[in-house]
Amino acid sequence: MDCLFCKFANGELETSKVFESSSVLGFKDINPSAKEHYLFIHKNHSENILSMSDGEVSEVFLGIKEFLEKSPMKDNGFRIVNNTGKEGGQTIFHTHFHLLGGEQLKGFGH
Ligand code: AMP
Ligand code: ZN
Repeated sequence: MDCLFCKFANGELETSKVFESSSVLGFKDINPSAKEHYLFIHKNHSENILSMSDGEVSEVFLGIKEFLEKSPMKDNGFRIVNNTGKEGGQTIFHTHFHLLGGEQLKGFGH
């Protein structure tokens, strides 16, 4: 399968990694929407959150939590976003969670 994020996960392509465990990878978004903008993925391919197992979903969130333990975002705040499907604006079809922060975030949900 020709999937960019699978290639990051299996090391076939390099990315600016910020977190890695046996099952999860976190890396910098190439086109950041905030001062800090990272993408967290499970290394197993899935198209969206609905096709991930419960264990995979929790592993990704536990990875994000572990990363946040060492980040100023832990105290200052952050936002986690998942875009799914056409109306959700998903452009890369390997499930990923955006972690945004590092500045005052605006314009979402209020
Ligand atoms: P989404 O619109 O939720 O599917 O998000 C896809 C994200 O992947 C966007 O924020 C892109 O900026 C990001 N992206 C696309 N190509 C790359 C890449 N080569 N490395 C890192 N992030 C990427
Ligand atoms: Zn993939």
